[in-house]
Amino acid sequence: MLKYSSTRKKLRLLSLYFLCPFLVAAEEIRVCLKEGESVRSLTRNFTSGYRGSVYLKKNGGRWLLINQVDIEDYIAGVLGQEMGPDWPMEALKAQAVCARTVARVKRDEARTRGAAYDITLSHQLYGQCEHENVVAAVEETQGQVLTFEGKPVMIFFHTCCGGATTTPENVWSGTIQPCWTAVASCSCSNSPYATWQRTFTRDFLSRVFQTHVRTFQINQTDSAGRALTITLVGSTGKELKMTAAEFRSRINSRAGTIFFNNQLMLPSTFFTLRQDGENFFLQGRGYGHGVGLCQWGARRMAEAGANYAEILHFYFPLLEITPTIKKEDYGNKDSFQNKS
Ligand SMILES: [Zn+2]
Repeated sequence: MLKYSSTRKKLRLLSLYFLCPFLVAAEEIRVCLKEGESVRSLTRNFTSGYRGSVYLKKNGGRWLLINQVDIEDYIAGVLGQEMGPDWPMEALKAQAVCARTVARVKRDEARTRGAAYDITLSHQLYGQCEHENVVAAVEETQGQVLTFEGKPVMIFFHTCCGGATTTPENVWSGTIQPCWTAVASCSCSNSPYATWQRTFTRDFLSRVFQTHVRTFQINQTDSAGRALTITLVGSTGKELKMTAAEFRSRINSRAGTIFFNNQLMLPSTFFTLRQDGENFFLQGRGYGHGVGLCQWGARRMAEAGANYAEILHFYFPLLEITPTIKKEDYGNKDSFQNKS
């Protein structure tokens, strides 16, 4: 683990200052953790030495833990958690552009409410990372985000799609957006998460859904076979319908710790189903919601020689990689403090 050189950082910023003074000072985001959710994270923040400043701030009767940090340093913290420094450089760079896009879209949404960017809702992990590979991936993509028709758009990423991605409306419902597409043939098939099996008992499902579950079935799938809707059938024949995403979410909320090898955790909604008496056998693929960039697919593409632009174009063919260089893109660094 190599330390990130503060001298190098100052020199980089100084050179940018001479090139374009608007890029320097105001590139900051603030991340916050809600009261009651913050004890563990608070300890983690103070003990692991996050970049930028960390402080508590009272905001409308509640305390927020604020990390005021340069957005590029924040992206390095995301990369360290979402991939890690041992991943191929071009995959790290693709992830950096995705993470920066999410951060900017969500930060700007929060600013319109006079709020801080909420790390607990940010769709990406965040920790401390100063490894030279991660820092290089951030620097080599500095300021770049994914845009549609000239504007940054919310994008998604996940661990492993299982061979085919899906679109957001299939997972979270909502309006179909023209900028999002699904990939039919992802190269993640030999990843550690490509296939899995789970066995759920009637008793377990009955406890999860708080009704006696006699059976359940997949009603609808997307074109790749990923479950979209599920029906649970109770002992009286009463049916309980839900989206497959909700089915997964409710199981995982009762599964305990969320990690791939937890046999009570449902890794994805990409599975087939077979029932034998009291047991339901699920044969599944992938890990995560399956929308947007597949991290293990990106890794395999990078290992095969693809660069980060090619990786991003594969998963987001309708989006463009756009450098953000205008002063107004960087916002007012005091906007949260003034409104809270
Ligand atoms: Zn994949």
